[in-house]
Amino acid sequence: MKFTPEKYRIADEPMQPFIDSQEIWDYINNAKPTRERVRAIIAKSLNKERLNLEETAVLVNTTDPELVEEILQGARTLKEKVYGNRIVLFAPLYIGNKCTNNCTYCGFRTSNKDAVRMTLADEDLVKEVEALEDNGQKRLILVYGEHKDYSPEFIADNVRLVYGVKKGNGEIRRVNINAAPLDVEGFRIVKESGIGTYQVFQETYHPDFYTNYHLSGKKKDFNWRLTSLDRAQEAGLDDVGIGALFGLYDWRYEVLGLVRHTNHLEACYNVGPHTISFPRIKDASSVNTPAEYVVNDDDFVKLVAILRLAVPYTGMILTARESVAVRRQVIQFGVSQIDGGTKLELGSYAQTKNEEQNLNREQFMINDNRSLGEIIEDLVDNDYLPSFCTACYRLGRTGEHFMEFSVPGFIKRFCSPNAMLTLTEYLIDYATPEVQEKGWKLIERSLVDLESQANVAEIRNRIERIKQGERDLYF
Ligand code: SF4
Repeated sequence: MKFTPEKYRIADEPMQPFIDSQEIWDYINNAKPTRERVRAIIAKSLNKERLNLEETAVLVNTTDPELVEEILQGARTLKEKVYGNRIVLFAPLYIGNKCTNNCTYCGFRTSNKDAVRMTLADEDLVKEVEALEDNGQKRLILVYGEHKDYSPEFIADNVRLVYGVKKGNGEIRRVNINAAPLDVEGFRIVKESGIGTYQVFQETYHPDFYTNYHLSGKKKDFNWRLTSLDRAQEAGLDDVGIGALFGLYDWRYEVLGLVRHTNHLEACYNVGPHTISFPRIKDASSVNTPAEYVVNDDDFVKLVAILRLAVPYTGMILTARESVAVRRQVIQFGVSQIDGGTKLELGSYAQTKNEEQNLNREQFMINDNRSLGEIIEDLVDNDYLPSFCTACYRLGRTGEHFMEFSVPGFIKRFCSPNAMLTLTEYLIDYATPEVQEKGWKLIERSLVDLESQANVAEIRNRIERIKQGERDLYF
């Protein structure tokens, strides 16, 4: 698909900044959420078209409860129609918390002298990966502070090491990265190690607020960060994740910032972001941010639904920063990936309980402490198909979320069958008998649903082969 660039006051040029905060505010200040407009915009999104800034501004300004409910329902419908019921699972793995930046809201900030600084040595990394494999994880995101020790070569070595760790039937099949912005050559080096997505979150898209929060270090440079994923694209790394840290500034502005970033990437590289993330600050007092920007649960649900509608083709990631209740609620509105069994302290996946108490190395708090097994059971109980699928990335079907969105029948032919195959592996290798029983029933129900649209006989055949001991089968 060719994207049609929109006209903004700052024209889209590769590797050039594109945020004009006054322009974003002009859109928000002038958007009128009439009933007809809101409904027409929801209909446009359900027609699988990305929304422009003006249309997104209309949705963020909508406060009439009836219309807000229509926005939520629109996101729910889009998710059900386009993405089906599978949820992809992953785990974050913190590699090192050394950091030369001083971001006022972050536990890794250089001025936080209480933080115990460490970087996983190779043998520790192997232990962590083995522990994650023992839980059934197949997809990881490696997380780094910004420090000269975490060079592109270092990251690439970690990635290769992780792919090489195999324990029992366990293996990691996709490694994503959340690390500092690199130059073009750096992105090239990391890409060559075989990563999936490279995430760089802008935190806030407002340049002045950005400056106030980032006191020193390389991260202080708003535009270096803003254009980082352009450099990734120039390096051939076209699988990129964007995000904003909600709570730093007005959430409505940040939603438009994410959409502006999306259409910049589309205009310059003809490819939008692979994923959008929307972590939220819960407690302003503990992270030195203004209370007025804390996003309450209702607005959070609304902004997730608006993002779903605004960029209907992208993957949406919801993390364990959110509580179980919020995760259960928000998942309906278009979330496609969640983390499970998350631990943020460095080295904690392989630690015993007693050792864990001595750790003080986390970046922020998590509010969903359930194990991967508990999360899978919850998903299954609520008729979601947990998935560890990595097929597209391994078959070179790049831009997978775009394909699942735009290629008719893609979900039914690939994503749902692959979710069942990876769930079958999980049930056999890692699940309790109770979860196994529920899981087999869910797979059976899902097969019936697919009857007319996929090669169910072949899916059943592969499930049988996995039961007989084969692994890593996919479509
Ligand atoms: S088939 Fe492709 S798009 Fe679907 S879940 Fe697997 S990797 Fe993702």
